[in-house]
Amino acid sequence: SHSRLQAVAKAKEAAESGAPTLFDKIVSRQIPSTVVYEDDKVLAFRDISPQAPVHIIIIPKDRDGLTQLSKAEERHTEILGHLMVTAAVVAKQEGLVDGFRVVVNDGVQGCQSVYHLHLHLLGGRQMNWPPG
Ligand code: IMP
Repeated sequence: SHSRLQAVAKAKEAAESGAPTLFDKIVSRQIPSTVVYEDDKVLAFRDISPQAPVHIIIIPKDRDGLTQLSKAEERHTEILGHLMVTAAVVAKQEGLVDGFRVVVNDGVQGCQSVYHLHLHLLGGRQMNWPPG
């Protein structure tokens, strides 16, 4: 809807200016979440609106300009790799032995709503292709 797009545009602008994102507030525990994995670089927590029996969001604790994947630069190579390895670790921890899906939504056409780069880890049911 129009108002949702306006809210997303406002959040995107705030994130790009360096203001704390919703996910920064989850990292700082200002907003509660169900954390399933944490180390010094990344945090993984359950999505508030799960689209599968297992739906986990994996984020860098320090956004470092990564509001979205299309902003990725050479300096982000290590953290991006670490996020992917974390997806594999958490998938194993969640018992997703028959497979899972990892998704990154980028920008308006990618249906991104939170401008703090994150992986979606989805599993626990048969996924379909193509996605919507
Ligand atoms: P995006 O649409 O790819 O940006 O993903 C953002 C995700 O964050 C969505 O799947 C939301 O359901 C999820 N989300 C939004 N707010 C919260 C929260 O407070 N806790 C956990 N997940 C959230």
